Amino acid sequence: MTLTDRLPIPHAKAEVKNITCEFCIVGCGYKSYKWPAGTEGTLSDNAFGLDLSQQQFVDGLWCSERMFNTVTDRDGKHYNFMVIPDQECVVNKGQNSVRGGMMGVSTFNAASATRDRLKEPMVYRGGMQMETSWDEAIGLVAKVYKKIIDRDGADEISHKTFDHGGGGGGFENTWATGKLFHTAIDTKSASIHNRPAYNSEVHASREMGIGELNSSYYDASIADTLLIIGCNPYECQTNLFNVHMLPNLQRATVGEKQKEFEKGESAAAAKIIYVDPRRTASITNSMEAAGAENVLHLQLKPGTDITLMNALVSYIFEQGWADEDFIKNHAENFGAMYKANKISLEEAAKITELKVSDMKKAAQWIAAPKASGHRPRTSI
Ligand code: SF4
Repeated sequence: MTLTDRLPIPHAKAEVKNITCEFCIVGCGYKSYKWPAGTEGTLSDNAFGLDLSQQQFVDGLWCSERMFNTVTDRDGKHYNFMVIPDQECVVNKGQNSVRGGMMGVSTFNAASATRDRLKEPMVYRGGMQMETSWDEAIGLVAKVYKKIIDRDGADEISHKTFDHGGGGGGFENTWATGKLFHTAIDTKSASIHNRPAYNSEVHASREMGIGELNSSYYDASIADTLLIIGCNPYECQTNLFNVHMLPNLQRATVGEKQKEFEKGESAAAAKIIYVDPRRTASITNSMEAAGAENVLHLQLKPGTDITLMNALVSYIFEQGWADEDFIKNHAENFGAMYKANKISLEEAAKITELKVSDMKKAAQWIAAPKASGHRPRTSI
């Protein structure tokens, strides 16, 4: 049997576990199936409870070669191992992305390329990287730290650490390293994987009191307007885009979705604004789904997004579209901030190289009241 021809079928006694994708913060659900190598179910009697003699749907319960592996477990026995998207997970509803869909093949297997893993600390010695013991590696790092702290102070030690860890693991995953860096070494110099400092992934928003990763995927599926700043969700958070944003963008054009939304407040397609110097695949796909008239690409000069945000805030205020009660109850020194950052659309156009009419349109989509008088549901 070659794995490109067929894969073994998990039988009804396979061990099934719910797992979360290890790669990104979308946190898609998967199911793993493990069963002894050399055994398998049949087309009609299998762990999926499906008649596999029939063609399955594209997003159905089936396994690609990349979702499969053979592993040797701690008991020394060989098992077939399959990781497939969970149909019941509310996040991905049976879909996978190219990253999550590879969890099966990327699982450690001593007989495949995944055997090349770092198992011991490496130290550069005699012109090459050589394996060493943990005791020696830890001792070496500790001595270097101590010398730097004694000579130059702890803040001369910077640390860079991963953060997300899939499924929104975030800081829980960095609890021990956080204690080491912030308490034991006591350095103020820190940043996580993709940031220049220990700041928000959405620059300046945390400083304004708005934590990142704070929105529900459900919000993306019911928003009237989606404001996407400097990110490319189709390619970088695929299932969030495909499962939650796309149906919302398709409201006007897809029959079943239209019926669903007609029961609710609005049957119009969501509008989507991209603030990005690049023309990404997300933009092309959004235009295809929602129609070009519902997609606005603010292709600004790189580095001018703060100017754009200030211009949008200023214009929204001038139009009387701001939620003044919210500001009164939740913001401090708003008046001073507004005065310091106020900028006209004309002035912002010179800096950002955007059209005044496009910025006006963006502000309208974000904040102008709907015909019903309600504020638009804008997901940022
Ligand atoms: S979008 Fe892809 S990488 Fe992110 S959690 Fe889902 S399957 Fe994993």
